[in-house]
Amino acid sequence: MPTALVTGITGQDGAYLAQLLLAKGYRVVGLMRRSASSDVIGERLRWLGILDAVELTDGNLTDLSSLIRIVQDTKPDEVFNLAAQSFVAASWQQPLLTGNVTALGAGNLLEAVRIARPEARFYQASSSEMFGKIQEPMQSERTPFYPRSPYAVAKLYAHWMTVNYRESFGLHASSGILFNHESPLRGIEFVTRKVTDGVARIKLGLAKQLQLGNMHATRDWGHARDYVQAMWLMLQQDVPDDYVIATGRTTSITDLCRIAFGHAGLNYEDHVVSTAALHRPAEVEVLLGDSSKARQKLGWAPLVSLEELVAEMVEADLARHRARMRA
Ligand code: NDP
Ligand code: GDP
Repeated sequence: MPTALVTGITGQDGAYLAQLLLAKGYRVVGLMRRSASSDVIGERLRWLGILDAVELTDGNLTDLSSLIRIVQDTKPDEVFNLAAQSFVAASWQQPLLTGNVTALGAGNLLEAVRIARPEARFYQASSSEMFGKIQEPMQSERTPFYPRSPYAVAKLYAHWMTVNYRESFGLHASSGILFNHESPLRGIEFVTRKVTDGVARIKLGLAKQLQLGNMHATRDWGHARDYVQAMWLMLQQDVPDDYVIATGRTTSITDLCRIAFGHAGLNYEDHVVSTAALHRPAEVEVLLGDSSKARQKLGWAPLVSLEELVAEMVEADLARHRARMRA
């Protein structure tokens, strides 16, 4: 039975990845940062019904000694580094924490693997945000980066450290440059989930209005369940490499609202207000990924359309709010 160590297991991708790995027969060890609220922190794993099937161990990406100890003890065959301060907007408020966790944290984990388990295969959760102010209309592995937020700058450090440890020390280290991916388990602060939660509240009479920021930005949105499949596929290759994972379709926030409100029989124009306070200091206006390399070499393709994704998210948020109203 292979062993996988997953950092960020309590997050959206960590939960779906753990589910995939368990289904494939892995022993899944998840790194969890200690918290006074640890009873609610496993919520996503509980939602998927796998909380008891994973082994959770205390550690922190900013604490190298905890990482070395965990890697030594668990002897993972595969290490997935999904932990991060992952919210772009928060990275302007906490730029140094973002650097410590999202950038140096990845360096810490690479060091732990290099020291304690160099034969393990390593996955780094890189991001399309690294393309930022896009240099090509469709972004592929060959597109130059131009980060636009402290988050993206931190991710770029982690990405290049992954490439560097592969080239310097021969680690089987791969970097997945994933475009936005969402699900009912997406953090409530991200725009898709904020919109689907808003639709549910408005539909159920709990709210009338939804305040958003820049409605013109466009994103290439896929389903997280499809994207964790790509992470796993990358580590099954003989040769480590970097891959863009995307759907190849980009949609504006306005059209996202149209789809989400429309699913609930509502007109977004009656409810959505754009406010300057929610605009970002520097915006990533457009992201559109070219995942031809992953499609050819990994045999990967997204299965869920944006309409299906949004419908699943709206239904999940309606169910959540109905359950709360009944309680
Ligand atoms: P989430 O924000 O849902 O999860 C982040 C995880 O990191 C949580 O488990 C969180 O723990 C953990 N974490 C944060 N700080 C630390 C720390 N100091 N030590 C240990 N763990 C920590 O992110 P997603 O699941 O959406 O994304 C997974 C990864 O992929 C992230 O690195 C993200 O930046 C990246 N990514 C995501 C994309 C997306 O569209 N979802 C696109 C491209 C890249 P806790 O629960 O305690 O907060
Ligand atoms: P990101 O691509 O990782 O930053 O994912 P987000 O879901 O946080 O943001 C996607 C896009 O939606 C960005 O261009 C935001 O500026 C835009 N957006 C517009 N209104 C909002 C909002 O209220 N919240 C968030 N999170 N994003 C918004």
